[in-house]
Amino acid sequence: MMFRSTAMLFAAVLLFACQNNSASKPSVGATPAATKADIDKPQKTTSFDAQRAFAHVKAQVDFGPRAAGSAAIEKTRDYLVKELKSYGLTPTLDEFIEMTPRGKVKFKNVIAEIPGETAGTIIISSHYDTKEFKEFRFVGANDGGSSTGILLEIARVMAADKQKRKFTYQFVFFDGEEAFCAEWSQCLNGKDNTYGSRHYVEKLKKEKQTDRIKAMILLDMVGDKDLTIPREETSSPWLVSAIWGTAQELGHTKQFPSRPFSIGDDDHMPFLRAGIPAVDVIDFEYGNGPEDNRYWHTAEDTLDKISPQSLKIVGDVILLSLPKIEALIR
Ligand SMILES: [Zn+2]
Repeated sequence: MMFRSTAMLFAAVLLFACQNNSASKPSVGATPAATKADIDKPQKTTSFDAQRAFAHVKAQVDFGPRAAGSAAIEKTRDYLVKELKSYGLTPTLDEFIEMTPRGKVKFKNVIAEIPGETAGTIIISSHYDTKEFKEFRFVGANDGGSSTGILLEIARVMAADKQKRKFTYQFVFFDGEEAFCAEWSQCLNGKDNTYGSRHYVEKLKKEKQTDRIKAMILLDMVGDKDLTIPREETSSPWLVSAIWGTAQELGHTKQFPSRPFSIGDDDHMPFLRAGIPAVDVIDFEYGNGPEDNRYWHTAEDTLDKISPQSLKIVGDVILLSLPKIEALIR
């Protein structure tokens, strides 16, 4: 992914630490503690399989650099489609051609849907392209690979449990998130990025479907062994509270710290601009420790930096936050 950068004002940290408490369950007053605790006891894990998710990341890395329009991204797309079909889903392709700094490129978003009792839809998403670099071989194990592996495994888990859901779920794999030019906003008046998500939102608008989308969850760079996903500040606060609150309940406060961070731009932004609630779950500290991003967009973004356990933590947190998110949708 994406754009930039950290905001870590001490006051803001304090503010978020306080707000964080509001994500927990309300005080139960006189309700007997044991009874209430039993009712509210969070499910600690899910059937999300860390090794399956990791195998998906490896498969993508094995296809090599997967820039939009490349032969390797075709193979990746075929892999996604085949996997989704094997879960009993019916993936569709949202194809479009757009002018880029490389000339016209054909992009294809991949979408799979689990219909719910209502048309109201929750999107869970990732980009599956990798940034094109001529100077070195960029395989995007974390940036593109990790979130796509997790999204496949989330789709498998949700398709396997036959529970009837109130909301429709869409798993959307965006093409063309990365800029072709070196810098994010260097070309095409800042439009040389997020091709897939911008197109998807325009399509929703044309089809007058934006009201149908109740929430959009974006995963990006979420497989780092040293997983650190601060609260993303451009995101819709209620979605942040639901997801980070769930992480807290599961004991994953180290991986989902309550300090703030702002990414600036990513695939969630076209949705936010269209009035659709959206959240970016992103670990932009892809290196050695806090605020170290040394592996991002380098030849070092390789499989050895990825941990199956990190993939599972993110998968579990997302899956277990869905009931909270559903409860908050009017
Ligand atoms: Zn990137």
